[in-house]
Amino acid sequence: MGRARLNLCARRPVSLAHARSLWRWSGLGFLLGLLTLAVVACAPLGRPADAAELAGRPVRVVTTTSLIADAVRQVGGERVAVTALMGPGVDPHLYKAREGDVLRLARADLVLYHGLHLEAKMADILAQLDRWVPTRAVGQAIPPEDLRYPEGSGGNPDPHIWFDVRLWQRVVAFIAQVLAERDPAHAALYQARAAAYQRELEALDAYVRAQVQRLPPEQRVLVTAHDAFGYFARAYGFEIRGLQGISTVAEASIADVQELADFIARRRIRAIFVESSVPVRNIEAVQEAVRARGWEVRIGGALYSDALGEPGTPAATYIGMMRTNVDTIVQALAAETTTTGGPP
Ligand SMILES: [Zn+2]
Repeated sequence: MGRARLNLCARRPVSLAHARSLWRWSGLGFLLGLLTLAVVACAPLGRPADAAELAGRPVRVVTTTSLIADAVRQVGGERVAVTALMGPGVDPHLYKAREGDVLRLARADLVLYHGLHLEAKMADILAQLDRWVPTRAVGQAIPPEDLRYPEGSGGNPDPHIWFDVRLWQRVVAFIAQVLAERDPAHAALYQARAAAYQRELEALDAYVRAQVQRLPPEQRVLVTAHDAFGYFARAYGFEIRGLQGISTVAEASIADVQELADFIARRRIRAIFVESSVPVRNIEAVQEAVRARGWEVRIGGALYSDALGEPGTPAATYIGMMRTNVDTIVQALAAETTTTGGPP
């Protein structure tokens, strides 16, 4: 048994050149991962599986975010075995690759990441990975002219494209195309499943629009922990304010809190929102500052911003997450001020 394993390993060696390159771009963590790979797992690093091999087993797809993983599951069905590196509640702006991630990435048949600087701390690994594993950024499905470039972002695009359902539909089409290229034997299946899912997404887009219509235009103001909802605002007609910018990498300053509190008190905004992947304390500080200005703003609930909900919850899929968010937003902003205020 041990000997057979050794022989298997010997047929698929991890070359010294690989080890040196991987070391250069990722340091000790990646080298440890590579050693685990070479010594224990004997996984192939040098040669991605070809189309004939993939036709006979599920395609191993590794994604960074849970959002991309859900899209791959919807399109790929039982043809794909999907792993997301970032679980529920994880902030992709701050996430760094772990040792176990290296194994997962190296064993994948296909790696899909978001791009547009969302995975800011994994940029080096993701940029280099395509030399070993077929790797694509789904953000490239959106042409530059359809992206937002908010003030103060240094010319970087806003990566939160999933909050406009119509933009996410283009990502889904892109994923179907990439899966069909990687596993051409099942191209028709991917296209058929994608077409069915696109119809669900069209219904979702209509649902969001109908829910938003329930709010008077002057109440369509969304205050959140970070600027994740810019595409939502653009697509569905909201004014938007975030405490932090389009990334959570930079901490909010006291001046940011004061400025946002002024805005909320002046506009008499009824509810502000916390986010599943950003610490609650940031938005609570805003609530306190608003109170000091003589206005009571409620925390209207938690929105899912950059990650899906826990498995088994309604927000565990993209469609569920969008519905949960819009329900939370509309319910909180439409609420009559029948109580004396304070959090619900
Ligand atoms: Zn974000």
